[in-house]
Amino acid sequence: MAQVQGACEKCGASLVPNAAYCERCGERTRRARRLVRLAIRVELLFFLLVVAVVIGFTWIYATQH
Ligand SMILES: [Zn+2]
Repeated sequence: MAQVQGACEKCGASLVPNAAYCERCGERTRRARRLVRLAIRVELLFFLLVVAVVIGFTWIYATQH
C-alpha cells in the first residue's frame, strides 16, 4: 500500500494514487496543490527569462545605433 496517497483533508475519503482531486468532494489534494505551486514558479521563471532576453536584445540594439 505504498502507492496510496492518503485521505482527503476535507471529507476523509481515501484517495486514488496520484489523484489530483478527491473523488467524493472534489477537494484538490496536497500533491495537486504542490504541483500547481511548482507550475506557477516555473511559469514565472520562464516569463522573467523572456523579459530578460527582450530587454537584453533591446539594449544591444539600442547601443548599436
Ligand atoms: Zn474529499
